Amino acid sequence: MNYRHGYHAGSFTDAFKHVILVSLIKSLLHKDTAICYLDTHAGAGYYDLLAEAAQKSKEFETGIAKIAHEKDPPSLIKQYLSCVQRINTRLSGSTISSLRYYPGSPSIMRYFLRAQDHMILTELHPQEYQVLKSDFAGNKHTSIHLLDGYQGLKAFLPPKERRGLILIDPPYERPNELAYITSILPSVLKRFATGVYAIWYPIKDRPTIDHFWRALRENIKQPTLVTELSIYPENSPLHLNGCGMAIINPPWQLDKQILDYLPWLWKVLSIHKQGQYQVLQLN
Ligand code: SAM
Repeated sequence: MNYRHGYHAGSFTDAFKHVILVSLIKSLLHKDTAICYLDTHAGAGYYDLLAEAAQKSKEFETGIAKIAHEKDPPSLIKQYLSCVQRINTRLSGSTISSLRYYPGSPSIMRYFLRAQDHMILTELHPQEYQVLKSDFAGNKHTSIHLLDGYQGLKAFLPPKERRGLILIDPPYERPNELAYITSILPSVLKRFATGVYAIWYPIKDRPTIDHFWRALRENIKQPTLVTELSIYPENSPLHLNGCGMAIINPPWQLDKQILDYLPWLWKVLSIHKQGQYQVLQLN
């Protein structure tokens, strides 16, 4: 396991993923009944943008640093920014005007979940796990496991709440990990058919993604939405060109909500207006 998310924290791919995550949880919290949030590849929970990794890659300059400077973002983006502000206030007493810390998915969800909800985090890297564990120490609504995220899908689904949001956000270090994910989804969905699943994926070239979409169409009966953001032309071999989120069982009108802010996000993040954004119902 070579991947360390500290190099990528706050990048355009993180910003896209976390904004969509905020949309998802806001939609699910419309009902009072408890939900379970399962994050299969949780990461460290927060990242110091002044640390060596972030300073070396400067990837946060492609994402959060751009968004934070915008004057009047759409309301959902403001809510995402308030999560960033809150972690800066909590860890350093400063505000977003002096952006130092970036929240990972567990920290973002922590700000939204209510007393009746429950969070399960799995992370396989021992150091990331330790940071996560100490940051959530004493939080009785959260359980944290040094465990393979795919094992976690077997161990923790279905949740006792019977309502759940599952984020599958691997580093894609394994060969053919997208194909692996689509191959296990039918059995995961058999365990918990009504869960809302959000699967983040990188876009390096279109044929790989077309293949992934085809596999989703063939393997999954549940309604599935895909949304994507690219900041470079999609077949450029030089960069990670974009990323997407496949959402199984999307909440009602999620596509419309995403379209309220995704054009704005693309305009702010794209490099010289390259790339594209889209929201599409697959199944
Ligand atoms: N979800 C996090 C967020 O949005 O802030 C970022 C997660 S990062 C993309 C992927 C994480 O998965 C890394 O922290 C890595 O150590 C961890 N990881 C790698 N293989 C794993 C596995 N098989 N099971 C669980 N975690 C794994």
